[in-house]
Amino acid sequence: MKSEDKPDRYDLLENESIRSILKNRKTLFLFQLPAVLLLVLVVFAGFFGIQNSNKSIATISIWVIWWSLLIISLALFGRVWCLMCPFGAIGEWVQRRTFYKKVNDTFSLNRKWPAKFRNLSLAALFFLVITWADFQFNLVNSPINTAYFIVALLGLIVIISIIFERRSFCRYACPITGLIGLYSMFAPLELRAKQKETCKTCKEKYCISGNENGYACPVFEYPGTMEKNTHCFLCTECTKTCHRNNISFNIRSFAGDLFTLTKTRMDEALFILMLLGVTIFQTLVMIRPWAGFTRDLMVYTGASYDSVRFILFITAIVFPVLIYSIAIGISKLLYLKLSFKDLFKGYAYSVIPLGLMMHLSHNIRHLLEEGTGIIPVLSDPFGFGWDIFGISGYMPAPLLGSNNILLVQWLLMFIGLGFSVSVGKNISRRMFRGNDSAYIPVLIFVLIFFVFNLWVLGQPIMHKH
Ligand code: SF4
Ligand code: SF4
Repeated sequence: MKSEDKPDRYDLLENESIRSILKNRKTLFLFQLPAVLLLVLVVFAGFFGIQNSNKSIATISIWVIWWSLLIISLALFGRVWCLMCPFGAIGEWVQRRTFYKKVNDTFSLNRKWPAKFRNLSLAALFFLVITWADFQFNLVNSPINTAYFIVALLGLIVIISIIFERRSFCRYACPITGLIGLYSMFAPLELRAKQKETCKTCKEKYCISGNENGYACPVFEYPGTMEKNTHCFLCTECTKTCHRNNISFNIRSFAGDLFTLTKTRMDEALFILMLLGVTIFQTLVMIRPWAGFTRDLMVYTGASYDSVRFILFITAIVFPVLIYSIAIGISKLLYLKLSFKDLFKGYAYSVIPLGLMMHLSHNIRHLLEEGTGIIPVLSDPFGFGWDIFGISGYMPAPLLGSNNILLVQWLLMFIGLGFSVSVGKNISRRMFRGNDSAYIPVLIFVLIFFVFNLWVLGQPIMHKH
């Protein structure tokens, strides 16, 4: 299965059985259907079930289990979640008016997404608004608000699918598309053209236009130039449409994209830094010293808790951008020939592994400590007093003790640091003429966030549920 063209990669499509499974139009539907049914269950539980976040399948399954598993899956499999995402699936079913068949007519005005928003700006805005709404409306602790949120998001994606072509929502507006896309660059899995030369000489380019075997890429990617996982959600349409059998589905080393990328973008760089701030803030509000700190600020400023928290939230988003800009400014002063913009964009990608592991270490505690709470809930998913499996009274213990969880978190942090430093040095070599020392200010930036997060993780935590 070793790829003939790329010896450091294993092409899963070389395997006959895997190829026929992935080329089958029903395969995707079989992943999507259970996810859609689960979403229906969650919405029902949110509206009509018990309003206790510890006992509702709506809150535990979405905010403890799904959200934690999502971050883990990004590190291991890339955007694999998106191929079964029930929101994307329902938008696509409405648009195509079929579950899996290839049809030519779509129920959509097929408008083009506005050019000025073909970036991560709307996705970043939605992400920040939802993160803020979580604090303000206690989303993670409220089954009914979780259900309202799901229905609102579903309504939005259906409307966008009817107005705009393909999966415009997933590419440009999904609140988590930025997070998913950037973290996916770390995954040891990629879908790529086997040979870029073959694409260059291909006149038909069915991966772009679609043909009788499959649709044009739903997220507007072109395998011939694709060099990172950011937007490809592994839907495998191009494996069906490519008449030259020029698509590979590779297993590769971790952080593969980060060691090879050549095109960098300012919107992605800013998103990476913003994500770093949001991740730290989400952990900060859960540690015990936070309560004392905000109380002191309220007394000192006379402001309400909501105002203090809002100002700190904005500070947390802006702070990494500011500190990073100073680090890049110093790099630029040391090496005048390099442009500030190129340095800013290029080195930002080296922060991804640390940011991902910070996110993972935050969520792994929730999963290991609170995830077992789903066991009794499965026996009585709506809190109606049922006991389907005879375990509704079961009092689950955490999967790991607190100290062991802290060890796992620190291990993840060191893995993130190791990858970040190695990617940073690689970027110096490939993009900045081997100017290793230009990376030193960025390395200091990375170390500041690494040490601060280690401290935050070591603080006593107040749980979501
Ligand atoms: S159809 Fe296949 S060979 Fe042609 S451009 Fe697309 S991926 Fe490349
Ligand atoms: S590049 Fe291929 S697998 Fe990736 S999203 Fe586009 S069509 Fe799907």
